Amino acid sequence: MILKPRCNAKATRDPDGFRSALGRWFLNHGRDLPWRRIRDPYGVLVSEIMLQQTQVATVLAGGYYTRFLEKFPTVEVLAAAGDDELLKAWEGLGYYRRARLLRDAARVVIERHGGLFPSDTDALLSLPGVGHYTAGALRAFAFDLPAVLVDGNIARVIARLSDCRNPIDTAAGRKAVWRVAGKLACPEHSRTHHSTLMELGQLVCRPGVPDCPSCPVAGWCATRTPEKLPVKRGRVALTAVEERVIFATDACGRVLLHREDGSRRNGLWKLPPLSDGGMLAPWPVIESEQYTITRYKVSLAVYDARRSRRRIKTAANEKWFAPGEIASIAMPSPYRRVITRLLESADKSM
Ligand code: SF4
Repeated sequence: MILKPRCNAKATRDPDGFRSALGRWFLNHGRDLPWRRIRDPYGVLVSEIMLQQTQVATVLAGGYYTRFLEKFPTVEVLAAAGDDELLKAWEGLGYYRRARLLRDAARVVIERHGGLFPSDTDALLSLPGVGHYTAGALRAFAFDLPAVLVDGNIARVIARLSDCRNPIDTAAGRKAVWRVAGKLACPEHSRTHHSTLMELGQLVCRPGVPDCPSCPVAGWCATRTPEKLPVKRGRVALTAVEERVIFATDACGRVLLHREDGSRRNGLWKLPPLSDGGMLAPWPVIESEQYTITRYKVSLAVYDARRSRRRIKTAANEKWFAPGEIASIAMPSPYRRVITRLLESADKSM
């Protein structure tokens, strides 16, 4: 069913007043986030790609952004990065495809633009991994040029400000929200305007129940039921899957690892899959972990193959690693956790 946009954007009738109130609030409450100090388009691109699908709190707490820029300080250094060091630097953030797209974008900037980021929207959109949101973010945050951008925080703020009842994850809802965002945008102060809207969404107009009594733009807000907004289509149910893997060590205590070649975690090391021809292995499960990735709820079970009388065959994409080497290779976080626990318990039992 296609719904007509149903938004009552009071703020668009007085955008100057709305922006001034927001700007005054930001002067007193805006946080000093590492990427807010950055004007360099490369640093902005890294932060935007990192913050797609990963929360600000996670990126900050893990020190991922600062570490990534220390390792790859310029677009040239990133363009020349190999898979192993790139994936290792991205470890813990998940959605590893983003890291490769970021490097691909760096290569295009070098090859097509002589190492200087373009500021033109079409040229930005032609960079790998850069869509309308990221192109807008580069124009606003790196170049302070007129732009319209809507991330999750801005979408929530606008849906509430304009009492928008269209689901924001549908074409009609997205269109309605982007249209209001365009009317509120400030061409002269693009960078500050978008930072303030995002900050409002993170600190005041939060998911769930917002802090309306503290809101600097409550006078421009059209909704009376903010806790019911934004409307979203029902969530896609998670599909349960099992991952059965083995923990095998050789006489020197080295651990057998398998390099993934699938599209999701291509190039990352993990424990080898259990290949038992469909029969459950006679080995006990010694570790387990549950995690969620995209739309899958994964139950990871680790079978103990250390005392196997069967010879463990190693495939072309498998290799034995000494425990001390494992820290330096890229590995999905759930695997890092189970291997760390297994190696610690092996140490204690010695
Ligand atoms: S008044 Fe409440 S719902 Fe409206 S923008 Fe402010 S925090 Fe969000």
